[in-house]
Amino acid sequence: MAYYTSVVISSGHGLYVRGASSPMLDEVDEARIVTDALASELSRRGVRVVTFHDDTSRDQSTNLRTITDAHNDEQRELDISVHFNAFEQVDHGMGVEVLYYSGSELAAELSAAIADASGLIDRGAKQRQDLYVLANTEEKCVLLEVCFCDSEEDVRLYREHFDEIIDALAFTISGEEGEMGRPERPPRPERPEPPDGVLFHAVGRMSHFGGPDDTGVSESEGLAFHHTINGHNQHLFLPIDATGGPG
Ligand SMILES: [Zn+2]
Repeated sequence: MAYYTSVVISSGHGLYVRGASSPMLDEVDEARIVTDALASELSRRGVRVVTFHDDTSRDQSTNLRTITDAHNDEQRELDISVHFNAFEQVDHGMGVEVLYYSGSELAAELSAAIADASGLIDRGAKQRQDLYVLANTEEKCVLLEVCFCDSEEDVRLYREHFDEIIDALAFTISGEEGEMGRPERPPRPERPEPPDGVLFHAVGRMSHFGGPDDTGVSESEGLAFHHTINGHNQHLFLPIDATGGPG
């Protein structure tokens, strides 16, 4: 696990260049809240933090340049851009994902940390080399898509576990425990011993059908043994795909 002692955190989009929103959650407003809360948690753990919110830009390209410059103007080891995702109004969970330009490890750790702390579905690390801020910041950069602002379940989990999410992010970035102590990780399931005389055995995640590339199964069709994703079987599924279809 990599630990960082200096970080720049910015909120996505800007005061006049709004991002996603739903009646439940506004991306720009909420990203500012997360940015400031994470910055103060990191500062308390001895990390040097600079935050940036774009209050001036009036168009998207100025906005992206302004945010990127704010990162590159500082001496730091890590850049973090805070966003909220959007798809369409749904009541089921969609989840957290963390985008990166190169080096998936930290992005995967941060996504898992948010998921573990909140119960949000862990969509994991996603490489994006087409996003301006990720491509043009000179240090390692991760872009948090904390949850979907138009998923009722996501917004509920996010609000209910806000403090735990911030604490888990701060711990993953700094390696320092805060007042809440080390974040609790769910226990790993015990691995069963293979029976005697088997030719081979395998342990890991599985898919009953062909996964996201299998076009022979409709999006609404349940799986053979698990028809819905819940807290107990989430680890059996691939992340929910971009269309919201089951993984
Ligand atoms: Zn955004």
